[in-house]
Amino acid sequence: MTILVVEDERRLADALSEILTEVKYMVDTVYTGTDGLAYAESGIYDVIILDVMLPGMNGFEIVSALRKKKIATPVLMLTARGEVTDKIRGLDAGADDYMTKPFSPGELLARVRVLSRRKGEVVLDEMTYGDLTFRISSMELCSTATGRSIGLSFREGEMIRYLIANGGAILQKEDLITKIWGYESDAGDNNVEAYVSFLRKKLNHLGSRCEIVTVKRVGYKLEARDAEKTEA
Ligand code: CA
Repeated sequence: MTILVVEDERRLADALSEILTEVKYMVDTVYTGTDGLAYAESGIYDVIILDVMLPGMNGFEIVSALRKKKIATPVLMLTARGEVTDKIRGLDAGADDYMTKPFSPGELLARVRVLSRRKGEVVLDEMTYGDLTFRISSMELCSTATGRSIGLSFREGEMIRYLIANGGAILQKEDLITKIWGYESDAGDNNVEAYVSFLRKKLNHLGSRCEIVTVKRVGYKLEARDAEKTEA
């Protein structure tokens, strides 16, 4: 499953690429409309994520050009908040779906899943670390050690996704803020601390062998304790 991201805003382009590679998609990123069209014309992509306002050539022009050349790759357009006319123009030009910025990683993955399903691809929905399994679509966290499961709130889900993806590695608080609250939020350390404490309670409830360890003055890491230590 290979995805083309066409987005001139570097931070957003990087964020998109990271969210997608985390669930094992292959991602190519380009930052201008002209590159976007050139790459998209190769026809090798399963989904194209396309910004509207781009240097060189805009998103509408790219979709129209692709459809004229009979390239049917599903296109997800990124539009600015509240610009309804953009959505209509995008769909008229031949886009398959649109998403309003800013968006959550969960929403992005859900939309990509729908578009890729049209092409008959199967998409990874589960992430695992230690005895933990997190199901992205149902936001359910389970422990295979105890058989218990619990539902997570949206932010808890985003946090556990990031912790599991980097299982065992130390994550800085600032990175957690960007990953979970997005590239344009004013969330701070106290938000991270609050959600870490919510998740710890839930891990406790699950009886999981994984724990979120505080790394002083840096951040956190998800650690899987071995079975013996748990029993001791
Ligand atoms: Ca743009």
